[in-house]
Amino acid sequence: MKCKFIKQNGQQCEAKAMKNSNYCFFHSDKKQRKLASQKGGQNRISKQKEPLEVVELEKAEDIKKLLAKVINEVRSGQTDVKVAHCIATLSNYFLKAVEVSDIQNRVEKVERVILEKKTIY
Ligand SMILES: [Zn+2]
Repeated sequence: MKCKFIKQNGQQCEAKAMKNSNYCFFHSDKKQRKLASQKGGQNRISKQKEPLEVVELEKAEDIKKLLAKVINEVRSGQTDVKVAHCIATLSNYFLKAVEVSDIQNRVEKVERVILEKKTIY
């Protein structure tokens, strides 16, 4: 029996199928690899079932409270580790943005003071 694999050009594979299989060695292996990768993909999907509540985030202090809450939720099994990992990563970006924004505000204040002094003299 010929391998049942249909190539990208629409033609059937010419190779002989393996014993107890509809596919040749190469395509049977490929099919199994595809199934394995699909299974892996499903395992990577988050197990978080209920949506988490919306939290107001404005300052570093808010992230500190959020992380403390998430740490406890992970420890008690209420929050999926992958979700927690994502929150931690995003928190890191948020804190960096807060830091940059703070520095920008300070620089603007200093620039204003310098400009005011220049106009006085
Ligand atoms: Zn084949």
